[in-house]
Amino acid sequence: MAENIEVAELTGKIEIPPVIKGTMKNNKPQIADAESMEKLKFPGSKLPNWKERLLEKFAEMLGKYRSLHLFMDICVKCGACTDKCHFFLGTKDPNNMPVGRAELMRKVYRKYFTVEGKLLGSLARAQEMDDTVLDEWLTYFYQCTECRRCSVFCPYGIDTAEITMAAREMMNSVGVGNRYTNIIVNKVYDIGNNLGIPEAALRSTLEFMESDIEEETGVAVKFPLDEEGVDVLLVPPSADFFSSPHIESLAGYAKVFHQAGISFTFSSYASEAGNFGLFIGNYDHMKKINKRIWDEARRLKVKRVVAGECGHAWRALYAFSNTLNGPFDFLDQKHPIPEHICEVTYDLYKRGALKFDKSANEEFTFTYHDSCNVARASRMGNYPGGQYEIPRELIRATCDKFFDMPENTIREKTFCCSGGGGLLSEEMIPLRIKGSMPRMQAFKYAMDNHDVNFLAVICSICKAQFTKMFPYYDLDMEMVGGVHQLVNRAILLGAKEGV
Ligand code: SF4
Ligand code: SF4
Repeated sequence: MAENIEVAELTGKIEIPPVIKGTMKNNKPQIADAESMEKLKFPGSKLPNWKERLLEKFAEMLGKYRSLHLFMDICVKCGACTDKCHFFLGTKDPNNMPVGRAELMRKVYRKYFTVEGKLLGSLARAQEMDDTVLDEWLTYFYQCTECRRCSVFCPYGIDTAEITMAAREMMNSVGVGNRYTNIIVNKVYDIGNNLGIPEAALRSTLEFMESDIEEETGVAVKFPLDEEGVDVLLVPPSADFFSSPHIESLAGYAKVFHQAGISFTFSSYASEAGNFGLFIGNYDHMKKINKRIWDEARRLKVKRVVAGECGHAWRALYAFSNTLNGPFDFLDQKHPIPEHICEVTYDLYKRGALKFDKSANEEFTFTYHDSCNVARASRMGNYPGGQYEIPRELIRATCDKFFDMPENTIREKTFCCSGGGGLLSEEMIPLRIKGSMPRMQAFKYAMDNHDVNFLAVICSICKAQFTKMFPYYDLDMEMVGGVHQLVNRAILLGAKEGV
């Protein structure tokens, strides 16, 4: 199917397209099977009385989440969000305008939960829930990456990502789920990580990394697994253990800890920082997945928990951990909350514990893609804007040539890679190609104006999405990599300098 997709020409410009209804109405996620649904405590298939049950769930969620209730009521249709979603810009489909997407839920809300909607029906823009509407929900609430860009531009701060999460939770509750996200969540429970890497394979990868780096550098950098009593539990996204270019960042993390003299370990039980509970909008699963990390931190008696390069994992750890499974009073109280590997590395660099040889990256001119969940849903370094500046400062520390992409495409206004939110599956490739267009145009602008030839990111999903998308846009997939890939190349190993 992807072969027939029209791919936008790269001009370096992002233009607002004309509206064309229904362009993406056929790009839906595959439906989850009964076994994977039931393992997650959802009904195995669409319930016979699904409509009643969904409306009960809707009422329950309106009562529980005041933000959802508010978002249903306060939109004034000002239009400020209409051209802000990468999926609308790439697909022209009005249901991919944030206000259009939310309207799919609001029209049902009006029908069953407002006086005007109950009395006036369609005159009050209210609509009954039925199979057609459910099909629209399945389609368009899985064409949202929960990236929150729209919320930055909404004068009322309406967060369509929360509406999307609520819609997915309601659909799951009546037995209509997404195959891809279910498979991932079940793999975490059954095996310990999103990729389903068993402990033996994990161990042999880490051993391979040790011998590979020693052969290359002559330095014995360790990749410990399940070691008790060390300083740091390092929880990367599991793609870092196997995929390319992710694994180069894994090498970078280990070299940082080695050179700084900080003992650390990976865990075979909590070998995954990613938390797809966030994507399916289910706080019970988010909590359960998150708890694995905290149980393991306690069991291994570590002093600190550090997250690798994964955007939504960092959001789940940074923004939700304390509410879900805190407080973390068992950690060293100089490091009482999870830390991001970028803030750890940059802090060590500033304190003189790490040195970089910029010439190792001299063939590249870098730009940086702010991953949505880091940029708009978390912080880093415990100061406002740290999540924007720390990764950039770290890049500047490891190279001579860095240029940002246009201002309206970075920092809090960053454009999503279009693979997040549980959309990184094969059947969603047509949408992923179109939705990545704004970021690809901004990258093209940086290529044309600053000779940029490398896109650095700190998110596992962004890496997977961009390496897949670049060839569609006639770009080399090797132009994408992690910030710790730069660190890996530039870090000077050798005599330790006090930390
Ligand atoms: S959260 Fe992101 S993907 Fe979803 S509607 Fe808003 S801008 Fe679009
Ligand atoms: S910007 Fe906010 S208030 Fe305006 S149409 Fe969009 S969601 Fe509604």
